[in-house]
Amino acid sequence: MPVSPIPRGVYPSVTALDPKALRARGITLVLADLDNTLVPYGVTEPPEEIVAWKQALEAQGIQLFLLSNSRRPGRAQGFAQRLGIPYQGHSGKPRRAGYLRAMERMGRRPEETVMVGDQIFTDTLGANNAGVVPMLVEPIRLAGNPGRYLRYAAETPFRLLGKRRPFL
Ligand SMILES: [Mg+2]
Repeated sequence: MPVSPIPRGVYPSVTALDPKALRARGITLVLADLDNTLVPYGVTEPPEEIVAWKQALEAQGIQLFLLSNSRRPGRAQGFAQRLGIPYQGHSGKPRRAGYLRAMERMGRRPEETVMVGDQIFTDTLGANNAGVVPMLVEPIRLAGNPGRYLRYAAETPFRLLGKRRPFL
């Protein structure tokens, strides 16, 4: 049976994911995408609101983790270091192996884990592949690349379905 590309809710931004509410649902690990999820493409420094959100997660005993498909060390790894969170590149989203490797490294099970990302066909599909709760955010900025608009259009039906079944 094909794996579902439907997310559990569509949120305006990562900071809309309330750490207390996540913890109340038993979540202790948040796997996050970088580009258009935590920051726009190209940004290297963690913004203040992301630092504050990460601290609020930690105050609830929730670990933030950067799950990247990047194949070379560089911006994503440096971003994670400056934010003070674990990083994994070569994650191969939407395949499940990268998600499983990240959970194994952190000693967490799928039911304790959410994935937050902006793309249905990588972040969401991979999370469902791995049995992790798929939470979708609106991309921070589509401008600058026509391909992003096309992808967003292709994702629209799944976004609409996902809006009807929020996790929080
Ligand atoms: Mg992204």
